[in-house]
Amino acid sequence: MIGARVTGWLLRYEGLDPAREPLREALCALGNGRFATRAAAPESRADDAHYPGTYAAGVFDRLGDDVDSVHVENESIVNLPDWQSLTFRIDDGDWLDLAVVGVTGYVQELDLRRGVLTRRFRIRDAAGRSTRVAQRRLVSMADPYLAALDTTVVAENWSGTLTVRSGLDGRVENLGVARYRGLGSHHLGRVEGAAEVDGTLSLSTETVTSRIRIGLAARHRLLVGGTEQPMLAVPSLDGDFAGVDLVVDAESGIPVTVEKVVALCTSRDRAIDEPGAAARDEIGRAPAFDGLLARHELAWRALWDRCDVTIDGPVHASLVLRLHVFHLLQTVSWHSIDLDVGLPARGLHGEAYRGHVFWDELFVMPFLNLRLPEVARAMLVYRWRRLPQARAAARAAGHRGALYPWQSGATGREQSQTVHLNPRSGHWLPDNSALQRHIGLAVAVNTWRYWEATGDRDFLDRYGAEMILEVARFFADLASYDRSDDRYDICGVMGPDEYHDALPGSARPGLDDNAYTNVLTAWTLGRAVQCLELLGAARRQELLDQLGVARADLERWEHVARKLRLCWHADGILSQFRGYEQLTEFDWAGYAHRYRDISRLDRILEAEGDSPNRYKLSKQADVLMLFHVLSAEEFYAVLDRLGYSHDRETIPRTVGYYLDRTCHGSTLSKVVHAWVLARGNRRKAWEYWLEALDSDIADVQGGTTAEGIHLGAMAGTVDLLQRGFTGLETRGDALGLDPYLPDQLTTLRFRLRYREHPQIEVTVTHDSVTVGGGASGAAILPVRVRDAEYRLDPRGSLEIPLHRRRPARTERER
Ligand code: BGC
Repeated sequence: MIGARVTGWLLRYEGLDPAREPLREALCALGNGRFATRAAAPESRADDAHYPGTYAAGVFDRLGDDVDSVHVENESIVNLPDWQSLTFRIDDGDWLDLAVVGVTGYVQELDLRRGVLTRRFRIRDAAGRSTRVAQRRLVSMADPYLAALDTTVVAENWSGTLTVRSGLDGRVENLGVARYRGLGSHHLGRVEGAAEVDGTLSLSTETVTSRIRIGLAARHRLLVGGTEQPMLAVPSLDGDFAGVDLVVDAESGIPVTVEKVVALCTSRDRAIDEPGAAARDEIGRAPAFDGLLARHELAWRALWDRCDVTIDGPVHASLVLRLHVFHLLQTVSWHSIDLDVGLPARGLHGEAYRGHVFWDELFVMPFLNLRLPEVARAMLVYRWRRLPQARAAARAAGHRGALYPWQSGATGREQSQTVHLNPRSGHWLPDNSALQRHIGLAVAVNTWRYWEATGDRDFLDRYGAEMILEVARFFADLASYDRSDDRYDICGVMGPDEYHDALPGSARPGLDDNAYTNVLTAWTLGRAVQCLELLGAARRQELLDQLGVARADLERWEHVARKLRLCWHADGILSQFRGYEQLTEFDWAGYAHRYRDISRLDRILEAEGDSPNRYKLSKQADVLMLFHVLSAEEFYAVLDRLGYSHDRETIPRTVGYYLDRTCHGSTLSKVVHAWVLARGNRRKAWEYWLEALDSDIADVQGGTTAEGIHLGAMAGTVDLLQRGFTGLETRGDALGLDPYLPDQLTTLRFRLRYREHPQIEVTVTHDSVTVGGGASGAAILPVRVRDAEYRLDPRGSLEIPLHRRRPARTERER
């Protein structure tokens, strides 16, 4: 049960539902890639139903704690002062509290097209006074420092004194995730607030250890019956809260509107001096709410123009798809480019995973590469800037090259926790997830795919080649040679399946020869050599000299790329890791019967005194990830190079085997399963896609979305349409398409940017694919549909029928 109605571009909720309020707060959060604010009711403070949270990209802070006499440190994205805070009361009555007054007609709507959140309701208090309230909010996509809240109150059957209290509330902590609450949560130091009689507010503070200065300022405007009125603003300062009381004589039937325009600046921002002064400057320059709104709508229009993906299919699906694009663009946008930030796995929507950056960017980058490549580039440069840390981590582990952290924050040092809590058993347990060395391979894949999609030479020369070479060097170094078999092994790692962190009963953490890691290592080593070939001779030599990569290194890379070991089961299935075949089959039916939701088998089994390490089960796609990341040709080319025989059934057989052994404990899993079935079983692929689509809107994990959206799954569902079901490839200089739509989708449309072609329009149906050049003046674009080659004149479009084996060329000039 989703609990939300999606109509047109609107995500709409009717009625108050305190139990689902935390979920709505995350799903209706507003942001602009620089900062985001949860959709908490402005009159609320943190309690069981509400959690006001504002997070600015890259604003992290580090606190230490002792857990069971072990010292742990956690770097967290910081919950910043609540700028929305606004409430009111009538005469000397109580401040607004929807839990105690009668509420009718409650409606909350998120307008995805315009990026505006609206809330309307009517309240009746104990004295029988009926009041109508309407609020609009935005976090400006045009003016990255600004946000605004506009509140209209209509006295329906009374006249009296209306006091609106609006504030900047510094009484916040990081308390958004229940299981972190035992750990340090006070990230803001001394808060200084001020309130002026003209209704101006300011609040300054600093993060405790990272010492990032934060400045907020707010400005108010009062309108009565639509006409601006002078304000009587009474400062209301209370500890870390800076507010004003705006006192108005309200008359029955006459709307009273309070506009609040807020600026949020930090010392990480560019072109500012002191953040408090910068915030005051910003509100001084900002237009009134409607002016801000108009600019904000224009900015969203420009984004939707590039990023909308539309389907003629189920209405629900098409709107949730938009919701996913919307949240992706609120997490990273053009405003992220200069911030030196990565792609946080849970958006800027909550505190889960402390705002860290994981491999989930693998699922997000394909969308950005083909829409907003400059944003994609900035995400990769975030990784490049952290190469020194990654080199230091490799050295500390006894290797050369770059070891990227499984969880990355401000510095690029490993931020993964070393212990985690199983809420089911109450036990703190060792957390080995940082052994997921494959994160570096994701950085290499993302770098290479960006290059393929954009042909950005400058990027490859300056950043890309260096990252790929350093990652390749680390993995080649990590591989150990087994002379007896003439094979290399990569030992002591974890694959994407986090439920296996050791062989059963072994005291040594990590597994050997994880297929995902080894295949991608071989692939990356190949790309490293290709990168060197692509660089001009001068830059190639320069880079080799700077990195100290010698001929002997290149020879070793070549050797490892031909000799890495893959383990195979007796029946020809590619084994997830060495020893997997000997594990026990899991009792799927029995556990499903006992526990119903078995997605967190790690917690269930640990609480039973057992361990997932004993069983053939996985949290999420592990081997199958290979077929998401690599094309079939790329995968088979790696097998050929490694000297492993295969046939056309190797992939389908492997897919079939692991499909039955996954409990989908990560929202990424269903995306991958839909992907790997997109060709072989369209019906099942469609079902997985629909399930992946519900990950957040239906909060399928029962509470995790409230702690932050799942950005990888959101982007992954969109990418399934743009690349999965269309077979879109950007290899070589041609745009390749090999569509295979599920029956339930009749038409799929989107625009993409490819190389120098700013807006290619793609329309796919079951019968044809149409590619339009967006009337740009760019050069002819080679387009490959199935096995046939076409040439698209960007001033026109190509419509290519799909039913014939060799479709006739139908080029239409406009
Ligand atoms: C998944 C990881 C993912 C992380 C952050 C975990 O639950 O297993 O693959 O990177 O969440 O989204």
